[in-house]
Amino acid sequence: MHTEFIISLNDLRFVSIECPHCGTRVTLDMSREDFSVGGRNVFGPEACAGCRKAFDSTVARSVDALHRVYKDLPEAVGKCITFSGRRDPDSARS
Ligand SMILES: [Zn+2]
Repeated sequence: MHTEFIISLNDLRFVSIECPHCGTRVTLDMSREDFSVGGRNVFGPEACAGCRKAFDSTVARSVDALHRVYKDLPEAVGKCITFSGRRDPDSARS
């Protein structure tokens, strides 16, 4: 038995990043603006807030790209796009 879910792109708002080293999870609100760091606008963190180890460089770049799409997406388009998935109750993913 599994649970199926459908979510509109407009309903997505938070993105979480889990540190592969210590398991600290940081949740970012995609409705917020970028942060200016060293004259560069960034959204995704480059290092873990818990253990301070650097994430793989693709993590911040990917979260930044996702954030740009989220901020640029017209609401009418977001209503038309949905994601669907299944959750197996025995799965380790939560
Ligand atoms: Zn960490």
